[in-house]
Amino acid sequence: MIPAAFEYARAGSVQEASELLGKFGEDAKVLAGGHSLIPLMRLRLAQPSALVDINNVKELAYIARENGKLRVGALTRHVDIHNSQDVKQNLPILAEVASEVGDNQVRNMGTIGGVVAHADSAGDYPTLCVMLDAEIVTNKRRIPAHEFFQDLFTTPLENDELVCEVVFPVANGPHKYIKFRRRLFDWAIVAAAAQKTEQGWRIGLTNVGPTPVRAVAVEQALGQGASPTEAAEHASDGLNPSGDIRATPEYKKHLARVLTRRAIEQSQ
Ligand SMILES: Cc1cc2nc3c(=O)[nH]c(=O)nc-3n(C[C@H](O)[C@H](O)[C@H](O)COP(=O)(O)OP(=O)(O)OC[C@H]3O[C@@H](n4cnc5c(N)ncnc54)[C@H](O)[C@@H]3O)c2cc1C
Repeated sequence: MIPAAFEYARAGSVQEASELLGKFGEDAKVLAGGHSLIPLMRLRLAQPSALVDINNVKELAYIARENGKLRVGALTRHVDIHNSQDVKQNLPILAEVASEVGDNQVRNMGTIGGVVAHADSAGDYPTLCVMLDAEIVTNKRRIPAHEFFQDLFTTPLENDELVCEVVFPVANGPHKYIKFRRRLFDWAIVAAAAQKTEQGWRIGLTNVGPTPVRAVAVEQALGQGASPTEAAEHASDGLNPSGDIRATPEYKKHLARVLTRRAIEQSQ
């Protein structure tokens, strides 16, 4: 299908992008990799009045380690996250997750800022953001990840506010991300992430609710000496996933437990 008519402007800086968004008003949207927004526009599920293209805002494409943190600019593409030596050394689970996002075309164009701002419950990076206490930095403020993902496709971003970077803690201990899907390049039906840190295990779940889930009960059980099998039984505590064409709520809860156990056991 053909999208509804819209205005288009290309920004050269974050400030210019913010000003353009302000000028076009609340129906304007940022265009990053376009791999979520353009399909929605073609289906007319999204009909923005204007697009502000940030693909020329080079100041938003970087990966840097600083003061025990890994800073990833919003316009960094999935492929660059996957290939980055800085990511592999400082937060290898992020490189692993990047390699699991969509297919080559998606990874060549899609950006971390786009995934975070889109806030799809099946998005992969948001799970890492929440379980590792990442911060979402915008042109206006710093937002802890657990406050950023408010509901399905819902964040606190204002109309002229851009995601500028995602700041993760450095963590290079044992880790694993396991994505359960029927075909190789599909979105996760459910996914589980495990990361051992100096403070203990962090466990996260993808697509078991409207927002990413940090499985605190599993982390606590592991901290008290439970085996991966015993701890993973808590992965579905408090979950109330909605069913869809691919899985019932009960099956998603089952997957949460099984994938959590495997992610802990396979962490290296
Ligand atoms: C076939 C296919 C398979 C996919 N599989 C997966 C998958 O398995 N896992 C996964 O996580 N994703 C998957 N995706 C989505 C993909 O990762 C997209 O790249 C991502 O969701 C959006 O990033 P984008 O840069 O393309 O953003 P866009 O599509 O350009 O934008 C998405 C939304 O975010 C907003 N936005 C973008 N950047 C910013 C910013 N810096 N500040 C504020 N708002 C912003 C836009 O206005 C829009 O509302 C898939 C996509 C496709 C087409």
